[in-house]
Amino acid sequence: MTAQTETLEFQAEARQLLHLMVNSIYSNKDIFLRELISNASDALDKLRLESFRDKSLDVDTDDLHIALEVDRERRTLTVRDNGIGMSRDDVVNLIGTIAKSGTAEMIRQLREAEESAAGELIGQFGVGFYASFMVADKVTLLTRRAGESEATHWESDGSGTYTVDTVPGGAQGTAVTLHLKPVDTEDQLHDYTAEHTLREIVRRYSDFVTWPIRMEVEKTVDGETTREWETLNSRKALWTKSRDEATDEEYSEFYKHISHDWLDPLRSIPVKAEGTFEYQALLFLPARAPMDLNMRDAKRGVQLYVKRVFIMDNCDALMPDYLRFVKGVVDAQDLSLNVSREILQQDRQIQLMRKRLVKRVLSSVKALKDEDPGRYETFWGEFGAVVKEGLVEDPDNREAILEIASFASTHDAEQPTTLASYVERMPEGQEHIYYLTGPSRAVIENSPHMEAFRAKGREVLILTDPIDEFWVNQVGEFSGKTFQSVAKGQVDLDSEADSENETSSTDTSEDGFGPLCSWMADALSDHVKEVRLSSRLTTSPACLVGETFDITPALAKLYQQAGQEVPTAKRTLELNPSHPLVTSLRTAHEQGADTDKLAGTAELLHGMAVLAEGSELADPQRFTSLLADTLADRL
Ligand code: ADP
Ligand code: MG
Repeated sequence: MTAQTETLEFQAEARQLLHLMVNSIYSNKDIFLRELISNASDALDKLRLESFRDKSLDVDTDDLHIALEVDRERRTLTVRDNGIGMSRDDVVNLIGTIAKSGTAEMIRQLREAEESAAGELIGQFGVGFYASFMVADKVTLLTRRAGESEATHWESDGSGTYTVDTVPGGAQGTAVTLHLKPVDTEDQLHDYTAEHTLREIVRRYSDFVTWPIRMEVEKTVDGETTREWETLNSRKALWTKSRDEATDEEYSEFYKHISHDWLDPLRSIPVKAEGTFEYQALLFLPARAPMDLNMRDAKRGVQLYVKRVFIMDNCDALMPDYLRFVKGVVDAQDLSLNVSREILQQDRQIQLMRKRLVKRVLSSVKALKDEDPGRYETFWGEFGAVVKEGLVEDPDNREAILEIASFASTHDAEQPTTLASYVERMPEGQEHIYYLTGPSRAVIENSPHMEAFRAKGREVLILTDPIDEFWVNQVGEFSGKTFQSVAKGQVDLDSEADSENETSSTDTSEDGFGPLCSWMADALSDHVKEVRLSSRLTTSPACLVGETFDITPALAKLYQQAGQEVPTAKRTLELNPSHPLVTSLRTAHEQGADTDKLAGTAELLHGMAVLAEGSELADPQRFTSLLADTLADRL
């Protein structure tokens, strides 16, 4: 320790994560090495890029590599790289905290989860460096940032604190030394000082790493034992192999390497394009959505390489927002290593490439749907709401997206339906694909708008994702059938079914409801634009309906949450002519009952319609006092 030694506390989230690592909730401990190698590999990528961009940076990039060093006596394993290294501040900020977005959310979920589920949950995050503490009871790190003269020494036993220390000199790059816990094969703690163990783990998890991973091994030739450095990984970039040269397991490990996910991907998508603009890509559909999927700064998962040299992470020019969960690499042959994000956004070749990649991803989802419905269901459950953003964002691929989409429906309480199946089930004469948007399945199913559709056995799609409010307005039709909200316009299921034009049931003069309707329209003119009789109600007294292009209350609320004011159009109040409340109201109105009382009841009727569809009352106090007065009258 020197005068500059500081003892610092891990950030609270980091401490909790470390606690889980130290107590080894995750059974496969071997992966600590993958994490350290992946960090070393990133550091080498960064150095190479930095030296390319900053010619004044005085570093030797001729022999960039990763070394595994074992000390059997002291039972230590060191993972060393001569990459970019870290400054003292870097060490404190990067190793002492978890800066990733979504971490707070993860910690919250971890706290709530049973111990047993924690391992699974944590799989959604790369725990990275902290994985060291699964196999070591003490970890030291010695690192010097390229271009700096002093190195930083860091040490921790994984409990609440760590020490940092500035030391002179030292090799550029980073060495992580693990003081290994005793071997315990029952607990899957293997001997990480044994050559064959390390060799096997490297081959398994890190074979495709582009930098050499070296280890000093003993060789006995003619009775004479010598030690020499051997490169353990084949370094063959997996995306350059053709589909039948690579195994599923290699794809999985590669996916985990680039995505920091601990789960296997749902599907691997190799893409190879030859011709004037040559590129290879290897993309993946993850099995689980990351916590930050819906955060504004969520990272895109596609990395760009140029001729096998890593250029950038999170390459947003290659994937549209609605496919932001796709992970993988794209390796282009004819780009400059110096290419910037801005240039990429404008490059025509890149745009063509992106178009092609998008088509490949969408067709892969389609293949998944046809070949492996179980996996498709997982996929859609995790990412469906995001993919549907594409219906608005990417009109060119609308058809393809509609084909891979599935929706909850009144047809089956459990099983979602595709649009094709919906259309197939449509009875003769049905012109529309009916849907209702709302906050939850329960609210939608209990909405008064559904009554006639239920009574007639008409299938209705149940749309509960916020994005549904947007795309239904923009996507006119599927397979020649237009989308129609059951809460909008006039429905006439009778005439539709028999395709025989009966008298429109909205003729308000019929049954003498005319005077009531026009009086109510007047009394409720602050709230509704019209009052008419309904053919969609069987049990509720009333409901509110909009015009086809009206903004729904739920959509208005979404806009408001986003800070936008939207004009809300008044809707039409529809009355159920066979409901006792409505018929009594008519009688009372005919007999010239007290106007204030009648108006109060009309207002209550309107409020009930608002509540029944799951919307919020504009003035709850007024509604409750009206209701209280009415109830008091009955006693
Ligand atoms: P991640 O790799 O997902 O960012 P880690 O916990 O593995 O998370 O590492 C945290 C950060 O520490 C890295 O992003 C990197 O900036 C830094 N780091 C870790 N190991 C090294 C290394 N060998 N060389 C340089 N920086 C490193
Ligand atoms: Mg890492």
